[in-house]
Amino acid sequence: MGIDDSILKRINFEELINELKERGAKRVGVQLPDGLKFKSHEIIKRVEDDGFQVILSGSGSYGACDIDTSLLNEVDILIHFGHTAILKIGRVIYTPYFIDFEIKIEDIKIEEKRIALIATAQYAWKLNEVKRILEDDGYDVELNRGKRVKFPGQVLGCNYSVLRNSSADAVLFIGDGLFHPVGASIYSKKKVYRYSPLSREFGEVTVEDFLRKRMNLLAKAMYSEKKGAIIVSSKPGQKRFKLAERLQREGRDAGKEVDLLMVDEITPSKLLNFPYGYYVNTACPRISYDDAELFSSPILTPQEFEIMTGKRDWNNYSMDEIF
Ligand code: SF4
Repeated sequence: MGIDDSILKRINFEELINELKERGAKRVGVQLPDGLKFKSHEIIKRVEDDGFQVILSGSGSYGACDIDTSLLNEVDILIHFGHTAILKIGRVIYTPYFIDFEIKIEDIKIEEKRIALIATAQYAWKLNEVKRILEDDGYDVELNRGKRVKFPGQVLGCNYSVLRNSSADAVLFIGDGLFHPVGASIYSKKKVYRYSPLSREFGEVTVEDFLRKRMNLLAKAMYSEKKGAIIVSSKPGQKRFKLAERLQREGRDAGKEVDLLMVDEITPSKLLNFPYGYYVNTACPRISYDDAELFSSPILTPQEFEIMTGKRDWNNYSMDEIF
């Protein structure tokens, strides 16, 4: 498949190359999210063809906060593909890619009239157009700006601030997967609908399954006879030492033996051989929520650990927010 493939068409290489030239870069790092890794060779080639030396990052890239700092130390500029900027790091160029889509209004059946519109960055760039279409159909649409996000209506797995002061009766999430709409529902306590413009799937999102799974993990951690560990990430955007130290203090006050553990990538293999019965993850909340089934021990969020230490009530369950 060539460079004119539709995914690569969504990347503005011309702007990128101009910026690399303007900034006098010679040696360039490229960091890709999982969904773009299969195009690594074509992307490298496209940048190399303009005379730059390229080194590809083998690290994960789960979001804009997830910068490969080791590679950054070796290059003039690091190009971080697939996400919009949330951290300002001088030698990093963020090159997002956006999904072009249309909504078919006949797919969307929401009984509430006042709705808040949200999406991940790949879809959020077009939310103004979606708003107009929904308004033409008689809805009253709220499209708020959140903190530290580029587009109105944009959410991250650790940031639903667009919904903070929402007065809408329901939320419409545009995009794929369940992680963000479930998060939005728990965060806002509102009814959330999900619409995927690519598959044309539409439906109301329920959170009961998610909460049941979280409650089971919490119970497993609570009844574990082993000690626990509080994970601190070494990634710049996810390093929450103060939070980890507070949780350790609260844990110890509540009679829990918990150690602090610093990790770069939180994967099952990294946690092998440790004697802990549960972990508390102060890094990206996606790891606790989305990857839970990969780990043999519960990976709790800070808020879940607060429930375990008696600092929080289950009825006050909330999503973990970083940004
Ligand atoms: S911490 Fe937030 S921005 Fe970073 S990868 Fe996780 S969800 Fe995305």
